Amino acid sequence: MKIGFIGLGNMGAPMAANLAKAGHEVTGFDMAPVEVAGVTRAASAAEAARGADVVVTMLPNGQILRAVAAEVIPAMTAGAALVDCSTVDVDSARAVAADAEAAGLLPVDAPVSGGIGGAAAGTLTFMAGGSEAAFDKARPLFDIMGQKAVHCGDAGAGQAAKICNNMILGVTMIATCEAFALADKLGLDRQKMFDVVSTSSGYSWTMNAYCPAPGVGPQSPADNGYKPGFAAELMLKDLRLSQQAAGSADADTPMGQLAEALYARFVEDEDGKGMDFSAMLPRFEKRGRS
Ligand code: NAD
Repeated sequence: MKIGFIGLGNMGAPMAANLAKAGHEVTGFDMAPVEVAGVTRAASAAEAARGADVVVTMLPNGQILRAVAAEVIPAMTAGAALVDCSTVDVDSARAVAADAEAAGLLPVDAPVSGGIGGAAAGTLTFMAGGSEAAFDKARPLFDIMGQKAVHCGDAGAGQAAKICNNMILGVTMIATCEAFALADKLGLDRQKMFDVVSTSSGYSWTMNAYCPAPGVGPQSPADNGYKPGFAAELMLKDLRLSQQAAGSADADTPMGQLAEALYARFVEDEDGKGMDFSAMLPRFEKRGRS
């Protein structure tokens, strides 16, 4: 297939490289002068999109996605697919999908889970929103860039799944960290805490697979000085998207709201910037009740 790839950053570059490695003809564009193995550089987003069977975007946010889509959609050929893999707000995903559909294109919002490691290894999980035909057109590319693709529903459903998942993740990480900090103050050994909770009703992905306490459970960023991993500021971005969506949908999400406020304080006023999102544990440890 002829593929246009726009946004060759930490995630986009290895994803585009994997598509090229699999034998597709990939033309890429990024604002920054990035070179990616096997990918031909275009002079603009429109040039990368012209004549492509599929255009993939991997961009920082919804505002940039809307601007890029406005340039790319008129350059694309009817029947081609526009696959956005960025994490953006549901409203932007739906607005871009509506414009693409009006131009006879097949839009898919397909944010990913799996991080930079998953992008490089081709083991991402895609959560996709769009028509059956659009999903089918994008699926062969999902199979190269990832190990699983779930068709979640119509336009915006992929972004909805992503931010709901990450809202659970943020809330659960905070709960796990504050419980460890309490256990410490109660004199409970951390390994014993892990042994009990990881096999009891308090178990979760944050406890069992990504334990925030160093030296306990499987290897995680806590064992590497809380170097990300998944940065606290990316968690904050996703929590903000969840609260923006909750506002538009009139949904009551008090725990998500609190998690957003805590990560905002951690990243903006404390020392969380540049740290893994599990560094909430040393943060709680330093604090008392008031
Ligand atoms: P990044 O900042 O490394 O890459 C974004 C790229 O987009 C940059 O290279 C930038 O130059 C380019 N760009 C910005 N504006 C542009 C424009 N108008 N035209 C063309 N290119 C433009 O970010 P990333 O880590 O690759 O993340 C990309 C998306 O994936 C984000 O939405 C992020 O939330 C999501 N995501 C990231 C991770 C992760 O672990 N990094 C995991 C899951 C999802």
